[in-house]
Amino acid sequence: MLTTRFAPSPTGFLHVGGLRTALYSYLYARKNGGKFLLRIEDTDLKRNSQEAVVAIREAFNWCGLDYDGEVTYQSKRFDLYKEYIQKLLDEGKAYKCYMSKVELDELRAAQEARKERPKYDGRYRDFTGTPPSGIEPVIRIKAPLDGVIEFKDGIKGDMKFNCADILDDFIIARSDGTPTYNFCVVIDDALMGVTHVIRGDDHLSNTPKQIILYEALGFKIPEFFHVAMINGSDGSKLSKRHGATDVMEYKNMGYLPEALLNFLIRLGWSHGDDEIFSMHDMLEFFDPHDINKSASTYNLTKLDWLNAHYIKTLPYERLADDMKYFGLDFRAINKGELLLDSLRERSKTLLELKNSALNIINEPEIYDEKALAKFISDEAKALLGEFKDELGDKDLSAKEYEEMTIAFLDNRGKKLKDIAQPIRIAITGGTVSPSIFEIIEVIGTQKLKSRITKLLSK
Ligand code: GLU
Repeated sequence: MLTTRFAPSPTGFLHVGGLRTALYSYLYARKNGGKFLLRIEDTDLKRNSQEAVVAIREAFNWCGLDYDGEVTYQSKRFDLYKEYIQKLLDEGKAYKCYMSKVELDELRAAQEARKERPKYDGRYRDFTGTPPSGIEPVIRIKAPLDGVIEFKDGIKGDMKFNCADILDDFIIARSDGTPTYNFCVVIDDALMGVTHVIRGDDHLSNTPKQIILYEALGFKIPEFFHVAMINGSDGSKLSKRHGATDVMEYKNMGYLPEALLNFLIRLGWSHGDDEIFSMHDMLEFFDPHDINKSASTYNLTKLDWLNAHYIKTLPYERLADDMKYFGLDFRAINKGELLLDSLRERSKTLLELKNSALNIINEPEIYDEKALAKFISDEAKALLGEFKDELGDKDLSAKEYEEMTIAFLDNRGKKLKDIAQPIRIAITGGTVSPSIFEIIEVIGTQKLKSRITKLLSK
């Protein structure tokens, strides 16, 4: 069965770059009816892996991704790794190396003096003598001394690594018996049945080492896809300087998961000139073989654009649910749906939407001074006063408010522009809001009258 995995090292939060590789792996598994697994690479026991899983689960939940089965923790699999290390020792495919720190330093210094690549010289590879006392050996794999390691990367194409240039008998277990990174990854990917490894291309140099281990262990080699990095706008690797890196910060900033996933899938993958991809589209069109070879640039303007699109187009019920996270329950607001619908056209984030909504729901505390100077003349005040008297007591629909306003203005030879901004300022304190008639319907006649009274008393 086609099986992919996401294998983060615990950091306490899910990185947006990690979410992108997770999304790619998730989509490929799901569209093929395969499995998507989660493995926490927590061999560095100083990091808290439980916290990492909680953070990943929270971010996955928010984005609507899920993984299959139980989470695998590398920290709980040391016995298993030891078993396979012993197997390689027994089969003569790995060996104990008793080189001391001093010897290693001497070797390094000599190689550096000769301007050579630092490389283990294989001195214990065929050692049969009596081991030196007082040294706990490391375990090294017998790597091929020459030849090439070749594989076809699903993104980058044919890859070729010259063994003599890049490899040596690298360590698979340290002197305290703990297995090294590449060894754990291979054992896990093989035993978890991973068929397709999609990961960042910062791991590309690990792949020939891992292939050597697959071959030594007799495991089937998976297909590899090395995804180019995400860069910030200045061309350097994406970091906090370029924008938030924690996925959940995007939630707090008022981005929708649809927008974030759409943004991330397009960072490094395209399908014609299309920009908008629902989860349904992603599942239909995504193929990791089409991921771009080159690095992509993080562009938050694009994310804003996508977020605005989803705010405009998602169903009311869905947005109303999401807005509760920001402490605003549209279902409990008079004409909540109308209010949200009138604001969604002009909001880039849910936070903006919330602030605009509060501006309408709450009576203004302060007024924009420039707006007052420009629009609230004595004449405008007089007109507003008359308009207020004309309003009556009944609540009307937006259309009815519009009709009565037009009639009111016609009778006085005035135009809509003579009263639109004064009304807007009375309601919100400023000059930016959706259609005034919709917001009048939202607040109703009584509140409109009291807000006009408040403005006129200034
Ligand atoms: N744990 C590695 C990381 O967080 C990923 C390793 C892999 O995908 O093979 O970068």
